[in-house]
Amino acid sequence: MDTSNTVLAPSAPASVPTRTIYDPATGQPVGEAPVHTVEDLENAIEAATAAQPAWAALGHEARSAALLRAADAVERSAEELARLLSREQGKPLNGPNARFEVGACSAWLRATAATPLDPETVVDDGETRAELHYRPIGVVGAIGPWNWPMMITVWQIAPALRMGNAVVVKPSEYTPLSVLALVEILNQELPDGLLTVVSGGRDVGARLAEHPGIGKIMFTGSTATGKAIIRSSADTVKRLTLELGGNDAGIVLPDADPKAIAEGLFWGAFINTGQTCAALKRLYVHDDIYDAVCEELTSVAKAMPMGVGLDEANVLGPLQNKQQYDIVAKLVDAAKDSGATVLLGGNPDPDQPGYFYPTTLIADIDNNNPLVTEEQFGPALPIIRYTTVDEAVALANGLDVGLGASVWSADPAEARKVAARIQAGTVWINKHGAVDPRIPFGGSKQSGYGLEFGAEGLKALGVPQVINC
Ligand code: NAD
Repeated sequence: MDTSNTVLAPSAPASVPTRTIYDPATGQPVGEAPVHTVEDLENAIEAATAAQPAWAALGHEARSAALLRAADAVERSAEELARLLSREQGKPLNGPNARFEVGACSAWLRATAATPLDPETVVDDGETRAELHYRPIGVVGAIGPWNWPMMITVWQIAPALRMGNAVVVKPSEYTPLSVLALVEILNQELPDGLLTVVSGGRDVGARLAEHPGIGKIMFTGSTATGKAIIRSSADTVKRLTLELGGNDAGIVLPDADPKAIAEGLFWGAFINTGQTCAALKRLYVHDDIYDAVCEELTSVAKAMPMGVGLDEANVLGPLQNKQQYDIVAKLVDAAKDSGATVLLGGNPDPDQPGYFYPTTLIADIDNNNPLVTEEQFGPALPIIRYTTVDEAVALANGLDVGLGASVWSADPAEARKVAARIQAGTVWINKHGAVDPRIPFGGSKQSGYGLEFGAEGLKALGVPQVINC
């Protein structure tokens, strides 16, 4: 296994202070991240403000062409990007992980370039003609999390650039190297100053959210930080797209085939080792098939190898950081203490290096247990028994978040009826967490507001303007 530094691990200019980033699987250093300051942020916003008008003047066609060239550049460096991502974030190369994430970056760039967005004629009755256009906002701030650092950065910046904006990116302090490397590659195809990464701490994020030079914040992260951004952006009335935390429910109806759905349930919950906003985080299973679903899911889960990301055999990795490891361990301990049944895992090895928490399935758990009501964001799934569909829908809707949800059934028409009653931005049927650059994605309740992807996602990065003549 190759654990050497990748050629992409960026190095900061000698004048910028740096800090070492460590591999969460091995504790080995991955690279040095610059520690940018609020002053660096000011410089980035100034450069972005200067570069934006010429970029906007290029028009959609030329900007889309640049995004396509940027996608080509990502593809040329895909393997090196995936290796860096694997080492910094912890996710394995294989499975729906590092190579998959880098592939999604180029796919989203291409799809964003290809999405049509023509002005809409709202009224044309012979007397009045009103058209709705979407004009560039100016400079957009993109603040991201550590779980899918490259993909989420592309989700934020691709539509922003396509719509004629400049972007200043503030990556998570846990995964700056991945974002710096990705943006360095994108910048091969973009004008100077248009797209900059400011690799600083929360103070830099907070200043970005209040800065008068920023017209919109694209934020993906926790609900608590989302609320802070709403407050700090209020004085400048910034536009916001907030993709916040989730605690997605899955409901398995009594007619589902446990064996047929087990692998889909597994990846719905354990993609990126559970560190995914729209992962399945609470599974509600009808009493009739509860034991069979538990059994099939356990047998799928047992077969999925977890370990160091660069080892080609693994499909599950460590938690990305100690803080998240502690959250998962505490929630599973609370579930065990309550008398719930541990079907698998729940027994981390204290001598194992890295933040590995074993794949954990917990059955016979009370719906009020913290492992159910709080976002675990890790490889531990609670499985709750229900007896009527009304009860399952009420439990699924019982929390103040609503990002995704899923319904599992042999009868798609029945599943659609249940889906319509669930309070979530997306309800999947017989799958969970599938995102697609053509399909709008966003949260309900405290999972945030605003849509990403597709034409709706482009509109969110423009200022609507009516021309009325
Ligand atoms: P976080 O909120 O701790 O941090 C996210 C980013 O916000 C970081 O870059 C951080 O530096 C920055 N930040 C912190 N304080 C700030 C402030 N006051 N003002 C501006 N920026 C500030 O989130 P995290 O722990 O990195 O990510 C995990 C969370 O993100 C989970 O809750 C997960 O569900 C959520 N998430 C949501 C989606 C989605 O699409 N809805 C996707 C991925 C992750």
